[in-house]
Amino acid sequence: MSETNKLENDIKIPELQHRNFRDDEFWKKIPAWSGVKREEFADHKWQVKNSIRKIKQVQEILGPLCTPELMSDLEAGQKITPMNIRITPYVFALINWVKPWDDPLRKQFLPLGSQFLDDHPYYESDSLSEDTDSPVSMLTHRYPDKVLFLPTTICPVYCSYCTRSRLIGGSTETVEKETYGANQKKWDDAFEYILRNPLIEDVVISGGDSYMLTAPQLKYIGESLLKIPHIRRIRYATKGIAIFPQKILTDDAWLQALTEVHEFGRSYGKQVVIHTHFSSPKEITKWNQLAMERLFSRGIIVRNQAVLQAGVNDTVDSMVKLTRQVGFMNIQPYYVYMHDMVPGCEHFRTTLREAIELEKAVRGTTAGFNTPTFVCDLPGGGGKRHVASYEYYDEENGISVWKAPYVKPGAVFTYYDPIHKLSPEAQKRWQDPKMREAMVKEAINKVS
Ligand SMILES: *Cc1c(COP(=O)(O)O)cnc(C)c1O
Ligand code: SF4
Repeated sequence: MSETNKLENDIKIPELQHRNFRDDEFWKKIPAWSGVKREEFADHKWQVKNSIRKIKQVQEILGPLCTPELMSDLEAGQKITPMNIRITPYVFALINWVKPWDDPLRKQFLPLGSQFLDDHPYYESDSLSEDTDSPVSMLTHRYPDKVLFLPTTICPVYCSYCTRSRLIGGSTETVEKETYGANQKKWDDAFEYILRNPLIEDVVISGGDSYMLTAPQLKYIGESLLKIPHIRRIRYATKGIAIFPQKILTDDAWLQALTEVHEFGRSYGKQVVIHTHFSSPKEITKWNQLAMERLFSRGIIVRNQAVLQAGVNDTVDSMVKLTRQVGFMNIQPYYVYMHDMVPGCEHFRTTLREAIELEKAVRGTTAGFNTPTFVCDLPGGGGKRHVASYEYYDEENGISVWKAPYVKPGAVFTYYDPIHKLSPEAQKRWQDPKMREAMVKEAINKVS
């Protein structure tokens, strides 16, 4: 039996489903793209030009696949969501438009009005206090040796659940945003701050999405940081490999810039890696695998950070498959985050208990270094903590209490399960503001 035949036989076994990378011309099922050839679909410029930016385009592109009922629910979603719309044809075509209501990709990028829930009473638009811990514009410095740098506020797709919905992607019907483009003067201020702080070794270049930096900008940022003597590691954060792999395959100038920064770093003995964001096996195809082969052959390491979301990846099957499939592509699963308590996300959130149970299920299914750590990034700026490391958990009322001894000595933090997942009695208690305060106080008192 040839190697290829053997692989094809193997992937029929359920345990080996993660080796199955679909390679059909799935976009041809979308009426507007039925005649689009593979070469055209592969072209990064075609993907950008045909990205969906307005809700009425959904109707135009889907034609008869879009029912009036779906359209009015999508329009209602636009009146609530804090994020604008932008979707690459790649992701749009992967949505199951025959059953769009439950589709994990549709949920992430095209929210329905009927699926939103009331925000949690303790939500915050800057839930992680990134703006409070910001010494200069575009920079958050919370941990002693690493900083978060946000050089851009745009992305190739907009996730309706974005943790930085207060900043990213332009104003919507519900949120006014001060969008900044790529502003080199402000970048230099950030580099200056890093230069003056010798404790910093590690820079996360996020946003927004590093995919939206031009090739010269990508190089300028990378090389400016790598030239700082105490910087040892930089990471470009981009969801691109997941939702727009065609750019890695056909935007040679951009990939070349990334490769040059990587080589520049290596010549200094420093790490240049990518952190990406695959959420569910639904969004993984042969295109991602080919993009990863291109990066891997250049020695560029990629890690994955996913957000745990109801209806997207909150089952053992989807989380195990995601972990193994990402690992199979030579991407290292790094974190699975509990959902941040930001606006417009209550329908996506899960309980702490669910996260702990999923972590138990995933651990042991593959190599330890390919097993993600499940974390809760504490509201109020306590930083990321392992989900099982809470100090106290009142599961009945959905209140967990945490400490972050190194990051914020002496401080106590709280995280809350989504109210709709609690018992009817607990839900009633949460409706009474006095009762709610008393419950939180009681939980905190158990710890201090
Ligand atoms: C997540 C984060 C980092 C990077 O943390 P790692 O655990 O090293 O991935 C750095 N700064 C801020 C503010 C962050 O939120
Ligand atoms: S790609 Fe990241 S920064 Fe951009 S909208 Fe999605 S979650 Fe937000």
